[in-house]
Amino acid sequence: MNDTPTHRTAIVTGGSRGIGRGIAEALGAAGHNVVINYNSNADAAQQAADAVKAAGGDALIVQADIGQSDDRKRLVDEAIARFGRIDLLVNNAGVGPKVRADLMDMAEESWDWVLDVNLKGPFFLTQLVANRMIEQGEADQPPEAPPAIVNIGSISAYTASINRGEYCIAKAGIGMMTSLFADRLAPHGINVYEVRPGIIATDMTSGVKAKYDKLILEDGITPIRRWGKPDDIAKAVVAIATGLLPFSTGEVINVDGGFHMKRL
Ligand code: NAP
Repeated sequence: MNDTPTHRTAIVTGGSRGIGRGIAEALGAAGHNVVINYNSNADAAQQAADAVKAAGGDALIVQADIGQSDDRKRLVDEAIARFGRIDLLVNNAGVGPKVRADLMDMAEESWDWVLDVNLKGPFFLTQLVANRMIEQGEADQPPEAPPAIVNIGSISAYTASINRGEYCIAKAGIGMMTSLFADRLAPHGINVYEVRPGIIATDMTSGVKAKYDKLILEDGITPIRRWGKPDDIAKAVVAIATGLLPFSTGEVINVDGGFHMKRL
């Protein structure tokens, strides 16, 4: 471990593609050591690590299935072994159901998989990391900002889609998880936030591009009439990572082009 750490260390789950990659790169540009977690696509993880380094940060790649307990422990251990401490956890990794089945036909296997990766994994990873952050204390804390945890939620937390109910339920759970950990960790100086994306152009939404093109560009479902970009989410995470929201915790930051507003 460095005697006087000057760089903050962030774990970004699912940091290899899409929103997570955007977050990893932006944190690298803000001078962070970034632990890039991925599950199956090693090439994408390598490209993300190269981008983080080109942006000015350091990077470590760790394969780990966030839905698996042993993998989560190994992820944290490898991050500590390399960088000595963890200052920021971004719970970003997420999956949609493999089959968008109607609520009346949803398979239990799909429920288990989506809930494991999107809710149980982030919950128990947060528990692990938060305990480490508490152990670390403030002694060697880099000066820029206090430790923080960011959960990447979704507008699906409050928008019912009856052909992917398991995803909506997991994201609704992320909302409560954010409140619970924010309350529990505030006495330890650890702030917890949810960043809640709207419709963002990534692999996850590429299969429904035509549907969303119409909704966004023609029907104006979002007041800001464009697709969101990973960098839109990354900017919110960097604001948190660099200490610009010190008196906020349990906060939901909507990054959705205004989708969340009721309109008449
Ligand atoms: P994406 O393009 O499909 O990328 C998913 C990332 O998560 C990849 O890096 C993937 O790594 C990783 N991942 C998947 N399963 C994993 C597992 N079991 N363990 C570890 N890593 C895993 O998705 P995205 O659109 O960027 O979404 C990122 C987050 O934003 C998700 O939580 C999603 O629910 C949320 N979100 C997305 C949108 C949107 O419109 N795109 C909107 C609201 C919220 P591998 O390639 O190695 O599997």
